[in-house]
Amino acid sequence: MALRDALLCCLWVVWLGHPGRGLPLAPARRPSPAPAVGQFWHVTDLHLDPTYHITDDHTKVCASSKGTNASNPGPFGDVMCDSPYHLILSAFDFIKNSGQEASFMIWTGDSPPHVPVYELSTDTVIMVIANMTTTVQTLFPNLQVFPALGNHDYWPQDQLPAFNSKVYNAVANLWKPWLDEEAIQTLKKGGFYSQKVSTNPNLRIISLNTNLYYGPDIVTLNRSDPANQFEWLENTLNISQQNNEKVYIIAHIPVGYLPYSMGTTAMRELYNEKLIDIFRKYSNVIAGQFYGHTHKDSIMVLSDEKGNPINSAFVAPAVTPVKGALQKETNNPGVRLFQYDPHDYKLLDMLQFYLNLTDANLKGESNWQLEYTLTQTYDIEDLQPQSLYGLAKEFAALDSKKFVKYYNYYFVSYDSSVICDKVCKSFQICAIMNLDHNSYVDCIKHYYLKHNL
Ligand SMILES: [Zn+2]
Ligand SMILES: [Zn+2]
Repeated sequence: MALRDALLCCLWVVWLGHPGRGLPLAPARRPSPAPAVGQFWHVTDLHLDPTYHITDDHTKVCASSKGTNASNPGPFGDVMCDSPYHLILSAFDFIKNSGQEASFMIWTGDSPPHVPVYELSTDTVIMVIANMTTTVQTLFPNLQVFPALGNHDYWPQDQLPAFNSKVYNAVANLWKPWLDEEAIQTLKKGGFYSQKVSTNPNLRIISLNTNLYYGPDIVTLNRSDPANQFEWLENTLNISQQNNEKVYIIAHIPVGYLPYSMGTTAMRELYNEKLIDIFRKYSNVIAGQFYGHTHKDSIMVLSDEKGNPINSAFVAPAVTPVKGALQKETNNPGVRLFQYDPHDYKLLDMLQFYLNLTDANLKGESNWQLEYTLTQTYDIEDLQPQSLYGLAKEFAALDSKKFVKYYNYYFVSYDSSVICDKVCKSFQICAIMNLDHNSYVDCIKHYYLKHNL
């Protein structure tokens, strides 16, 4: 089995390259005094394709191109393919050698490649997740990592169940070094957990399995609360509130509307409404929300029923550069670093790093670099809901230069000539500012009337 053999090969590389493998993982410790700014990394959508290799026959470079010609394959990958191991390793090597001190890392899922269902199996999916976990644990033996499951972290893809499964058991074992017993138990039962950050005593990560709410998941059809996750989430937030904790929500499938189409929520609409209700109710506990899945870089601001901004949410771009055969644009590989106030966990800033894939392949070396710093590039104070809301209003203005920038960063600077016309812009703006059905519909109506679309 080609994919399985290729995978064993990747694992061997990381074992050989990092002789520290196998040592017990020490709990993450931070030297005192506490730094003025806390930092954490966010990586997502690695989508390893272990079959990737350079060959003259461009239809055979990678299984994830599904027989389509690779476009310009090089050592760091190709836009028609999911990530070669070399690309993923370069991303983590960059993080490791960046000189940035981080207290933890969040990792929001989707490790296996985009290939037809019959080319994978439960075992190969588990092997890919194990490979990625080992890679992270080997490179960052002292860093606490908070993973969330993605819709591809299951076989068949998207069909994550609302009950115990082989994949949930496997990840509960793999992720043990980062989690306590209670987290491991809920992970086994429903693919979600909450866990305190060991270096930040009053900060809790809630890792949701939002794949249960994803449209293609037929296992959860017609269930009002799959795996009782909503009930568990409310309880967990309630306890955090009583204990004066702050919470970062992490998950793969984001809340809200997809920014590239009209009126499409990323998850089933009913579940989206339910989640928004809970997030509104506990917005004073939730200090930030972090997602993956779309592979693009976008922001969202949750408002209360009266329209006041109350929560900031961030969708991180993927490490994989893959695009569909019919898509014109894709994203360069990206990873990001968040900065927060270590006293109240308020989000202060975000640094987006990226790899110019064409350049890296041309030079044969990975030159990961800073793409932008959020507060500087948009001239805003911090990442608080009010600041992002103000920014979104600036974006909405006719001919906003800041929005042109935002749309270039949306694709991780893949194509600076890309243009978002009026219709495209209305979807983007309404998705940034409106996460629930009523306000989203109002926004689209308003936009259409105002701009005579
Ligand atoms: Zn993905
Ligand atoms: Zn996904």
